[in-house]
Amino acid sequence: MGMPVAVKDNICTADAPTTCASAMLRDFTSPFDATVVKLLNNAGAAIVGKTNCDEFGMGSLNINSIHGPVVNPYQPHGQSTLWEDRERRAAGGSSGGSAAAVAAGMCDAALATDTGGSTRLPASYCGVVGLKPSYGLISRWGVVSFADSLDCVGVIGKDVVSAERVYDALAQFDPQDPTAIPESTRTRAHELCSHHMFPWVSAVQNSLVGLKIGIPQEYFPTSLEPSIVAPLRRVLRALKGRGATLVPVSLPNTSYALSAYYIIASAEASSNLARYDGVQYGLHVPPPPDALPSTPAETYAYSRSAGFGAEVKKRILLGTYALTADAFDNYFLKAQRLRQLIRDDFHRVFAVPNPLASASAPPTSAPDGVHVLLHPSAIRAAPRLDQAAALAGSLDNYVQDVLTVPASLAGLPAMSVPAGVVEAGAEGAGWPVGVSVVGQWGCEAMVMRVGKVIE
Ligand code: GLN
Repeated sequence: MGMPVAVKDNICTADAPTTCASAMLRDFTSPFDATVVKLLNNAGAAIVGKTNCDEFGMGSLNINSIHGPVVNPYQPHGQSTLWEDRERRAAGGSSGGSAAAVAAGMCDAALATDTGGSTRLPASYCGVVGLKPSYGLISRWGVVSFADSLDCVGVIGKDVVSAERVYDALAQFDPQDPTAIPESTRTRAHELCSHHMFPWVSAVQNSLVGLKIGIPQEYFPTSLEPSIVAPLRRVLRALKGRGATLVPVSLPNTSYALSAYYIIASAEASSNLARYDGVQYGLHVPPPPDALPSTPAETYAYSRSAGFGAEVKKRILLGTYALTADAFDNYFLKAQRLRQLIRDDFHRVFAVPNPLASASAPPTSAPDGVHVLLHPSAIRAAPRLDQAAALAGSLDNYVQDVLTVPASLAGLPAMSVPAGVVEAGAEGAGWPVGVSVVGQWGCEAMVMRVGKVIE
């Protein structure tokens, strides 16, 4: 493909360190390439380097990194091009380095990861395209785990076509990934999706006559900044102008998604990150000489205290608590039940049946349902970096993920596409706003088709 592509630093590469932006892995170089890296090389991509991220993928602003924060390279129209005069805004996280590298023109595309929005949020903040594919379509072998049931390799591109080319090279069954979806299910999804695209994908370029787009009412929460709505309205008008029908829909359990996500993601992270004990893996910090003789638990404690940053420690503590016998039913189990309700909400509104449902299960799709959903990618444009540190410690930091986590919990394909910029006079004037297109599992082709019309 000959395309310059960057790789997020939580994806293993044999010829460059993989630090996960953590002191724990500061000196780690993997002995092997991740499957996605092998596939990129096989496809003839030129891997140009590794990109900064939030530590182990935990964050929404890319400020939790031993390498320092990522500065958003977007250049608002009419602002000074002098580096020292430019407004310093966050690139979004956790794949902020990947989005920034693409936005700065250093590469045409970059590999990212997306557990709860880490591809789509930075893409939205930096004005580029970010695709989180369906869970299980792209191999996670060699991708450092954060929360296995949610982790996906994402693709950031300078446009939808670049993201699509990388996605096409990567979406292959990998026997080394136990969560890889088998060929038969991929084929079934492709057939279902093509069947539902047939009526509206006509020979007329960019015509969307017959396409039904759902606008979920719950994706306009009070935390959504009003400046985001104008660019979204323009996109909706343009899509309508091409013949699409806009249908208001309801996904009633959306408001539980953020809480369920943070319980499940933290619980899985607490288990995954147990391997970094300073003995088998990661930074080794021996107890001070006056603390000797020490127990193995103390050695682990010294290494883990020094190796992990504050956000990672917070997640490990929260996740460990949610998995304790006392809290399990009230937190972890409830979060899993909510996850199922959130999945059901999606399948009830889509016209395309869920290809992952067993053949004997009752159909959950709506025959008169919608093909895709469309909503703002984020509640705001990129925050200023000098405000980001204060934001990071507050609940508002986690609220940034409110629009991206539902598709992650349901394992659905979702793509953020630039939709314009914040209008003059509002906070963040001139900075990009993204809209997200979400489809049924395996309907990447449909999502990207709509994305191409939007951009
Ligand atoms: N911002 C979310 C978190 O901190 C999502 C991260 C991700 O998708 N890797 O967990």
